[in-house]
Parts: sequence; C-alpha cells; structure tokens
Amino acid sequence: MNPQLNDAHRHKLGDEAGRLLALRRYGVLDTAREKHFDVVTSLVRDVLGVPVCAISLIDETRQWFKSISGLKAEGTACEFAFCDHTIRSPGCFVVEDAETDPRFAASPLVRGNPRIRSYAGAPLTTPDGYNVGSLCVIDGQPRSFSARDLQRLTGFAELVVEQLELRTLACEDGLTGALSRRAFLDAARGAIRHFGRDSRPLSLISLDVDHFKQVNDRFGHPAGDRVLKAVVEACQPELRPRDLLGRMGGEEFAVLVSDATADMALHCAERLRRSVATLDLGKTGRITASFGVAQLRPGVDMDAWLEEADAALYAAKKAGRNRCEVAVSRLQVAA
Ligand code: GH3
Ligand code: MG
Ligand code: MG
Repeated sequence: MNPQLNDAHRHKLGDEAGRLLALRRYGVLDTAREKHFDVVTSLVRDVLGVPVCAISLIDETRQWFKSISGLKAEGTACEFAFCDHTIRSPGCFVVEDAETDPRFAASPLVRGNPRIRSYAGAPLTTPDGYNVGSLCVIDGQPRSFSARDLQRLTGFAELVVEQLELRTLACEDGLTGALSRRAFLDAARGAIRHFGRDSRPLSLISLDVDHFKQVNDRFGHPAGDRVLKAVVEACQPELRPRDLLGRMGGEEFAVLVSDATADMALHCAERLRRSVATLDLGKTGRITASFGVAQLRPGVDMDAWLEEADAALYAAKKAGRNRCEVAVSRLQVAA
C-alpha cells in the first residue's frame, strides 16, 4: 500500500469544504430518478440478499437518495444517517446490530421506521479522493457481512462513481465547463420542487456578455470562445460550492443562488459583474456583462422564473449594460 496515498486520503476525509465542492460538481442533488442508478441498487439487493439498498449522497445537513430500492424514502437529516459515518471512514462501515450499538441504539431510524438493525456502506469516493456519499444496504434483522460481501459492495460503489462521472461529462458544456442548459434546468427544477419545504430563499441570476458579437467580428470566433471560457473562470471563484452556473446558450449564462434573497443575489451579481469587467483578456481588451436577478416566489415555475430574470437582464441592457438589475415581480407590480 502506498503510504502517501493514505495520507492524502486522510487529509481529504477532514476537508469538508472540498468534499462538498466535489459533491456539487456532480450537480446531482434533487434530480429525478435515473435508470442506471436504480439498476445498481436493485442488483446489489439481489447479490447481497438484503431487503434495502440505497445510493446516498451526503450534503451539508442531509442525506439524499439518488436511488433507493426496497424502501420508499427521499432522505434524512445527517445526524441520523448511518451513511454519514461511512463517508468519514476510509473503507466500508458496518453495523451488525444497531440495537446493541450505543451510537445508533437511540436513533429514530432504529427505534422507529424503517427499524434498521444492520447496515453496511461503501463510500462513494471521487477520483480525487473525496467521499461524497455511500452505497449502502440495510436489513431489519441483525446480520454480519462477509469480506466478500464488502468487496462486492465496494465494486458496485466504484461503478456508481463511474456513472456519476459519465453523467457529469454529459451534463457539462464542452467549451466552458459550466453546466449544460439541460443539466442546469434539471437541477433548478429540482431546487424548485424542494423550495417551500424549508423556508430558505432561492434566487436566479441571468448573465449576458455585452456586445459579444463585436468580439467575434473583430478578433475571430476562437477569441470569442476564449472569452466565454474566461467569463466562467472569472465567475466560479465568486460563487459558493452549492451555487450552480449553467451555460444557457451562446454568451448567456445563469446562476442558481441557494439561500439567497434578491438582495443577496444582487450582491453576488455585482461581484460577478466586477470580476468579468476586470478580466485581462490581452489583445481582446476589456469586456463587460449585464445581469438580471429574480428571487423565486411560491407558485412560480422554471419558465416564468427565467422570464423574470431575463426581463431584469433586458432592463440592465437598456439602462446602459455592465450593470445588474433586480426583477420587479408581478406581485409587487400588482401591490
Ligand atoms: P448584447 O450586448 O445586446 O448582448 O449584444 P451581443 O453582441 O452580445 O448579442 P448578440 O445576441 O447580438 O450576439 C451574440 C453573439 O454570440 C452572436 C453569436 O455569433 C455569438 N456566439 C454564440 N455562441 C457562440 C460560441 O459558442 N462561440 C463564439 N465565439 N461565439 C458565439
Ligand atoms: Mg445574448
Ligand atoms: Mg450579449
């Protein structure tokens, strides 16, 4: 075994910010069910002879199931999650009898439904060494897991990570590395579904590069492409790991800002605006972008939300470009 690799892994186990970043890069939280993942959880149940198998992703405060077979559930708080222990360990994590294990005996998942008695989880370790979740099996009976069981579980966990990687490639815009339009909209729709269950505000920023056609006309299409890449590189460091940046088409981008009111998102847009306006693009010179901000209101769907942010963006263009405007919601207009 390579001791350096071990040290690197130990370091990553303690790097929660890096772990969350690695999870966010997959853009998979709150997305719809996908067959590839359901096939794995169903196969693992068969192969290990257990009643329940799940692919659990561990976010800041909750675990969310990308796929679960044998039980109807969406997720739980991290404090109760067996999988939260799995991701803090370098290998498989096993509980043979939760009722006699002081760490879990009082857990509502053990004392009440789904009455977990035994558990085994293999961490989902990204290629850069972060445990973003776990592939786990649970049983209502106490049981032990053989070394062969755990080997198989680990093999399937590697398959899940491979699938997450492939899925990300398919979700990324090839030029800039931002989320593709489709992936961004999927993730944003997931966030809308989640919205309302907690009281956290959610905002959207639309971004459009100013006079971008002139860049292409004067310096050529490849120079235009470099500008688009540079815009994304300028924006990413200004965003938090849980915020999502998508390329909506051409020179238009959108940012989903979690836990943010319109005012907070406006501050974020201002940072992005400054960062783009101060980009050093060599011969191509300076560029600017305009921004529209809209906070999500109950009952508003994705299309309407985007329209609101785009209307604000249009207002920013009209007011002279290189600026940020907040959507005037229909509710406010009516008031
Ligand atoms: P405005 O300030 O009003 O937004 O003006 P604009 O010139 O940025 O807007 P317009 O919509 O007229 O032009 C957008 C240009 O973006 C036109 C199109 O050729 C270019 N474009 C779209 N996709 C790409 C791409 O992938 N690479 C490059 N280099 N150019 C692209
Ligand atoms: Mg445009
Ligand atoms: Mg433009």
